[in-house]
Amino acid sequence: MNTEAKSRLLKFGVKPSLHRLAIMEYLMSNLIHPTADHIYNSLFPFIPTLSKTTVYNILKLFEEKKVIAAIVIDGKNTRYDADISQHAHFQCRKCGVVHDLRLNDMAPVTMDNPDNLILDDCHIYFRGYCPDCVKSVSR
Ligand SMILES: [Zn+2]
Ligand SMILES: [Zn+2]
Repeated sequence: MNTEAKSRLLKFGVKPSLHRLAIMEYLMSNLIHPTADHIYNSLFPFIPTLSKTTVYNILKLFEEKKVIAAIVIDGKNTRYDADISQHAHFQCRKCGVVHDLRLNDMAPVTMDNPDNLILDDCHIYFRGYCPDCVKSVSR
C-alpha cells in the first residue's frame, strides 16, 4: 500500500477507499498529465472492479478537494496532475505531449488587481514544438 498516496488523500480530507488510493498512487507515480481514459485503461487490467464512471467521479472529487490539478491545455481533454506545486505547462502542437515548465519567478505571480478579485486558481499554458517534433516540422 502506498502510504504517500494515503497521506495525500487524508491531508485533503478524502477518505482513502481502494479505488481512490489506486488512482492517487497512479497519478503520483505517473507525472505524465494523463486523461481520465488513460488512467482507466492503465488501471483496469489490474483492478477489474473499476469502471469508467468511478474513475471520472474520483477525479472530479480529487479536483474539487484540490488533491490534484486539472489541466485543459488543449481545450478538449482534461488532464490530471498530482504535482500541485505552482508550475506552467507546455503542450507540443505535433505529438500533444504535455511537459512541466518551472518559471524562474512564479511565487507569487505579480499583477495589478484593481478590482480586488479573489484569485484561487492559476493556469499558465504554453504551446510550441518539442525538440523531437520540431525536426519534422517545416518552418
Ligand atoms: Zn512533440
Ligand atoms: Zn504539471
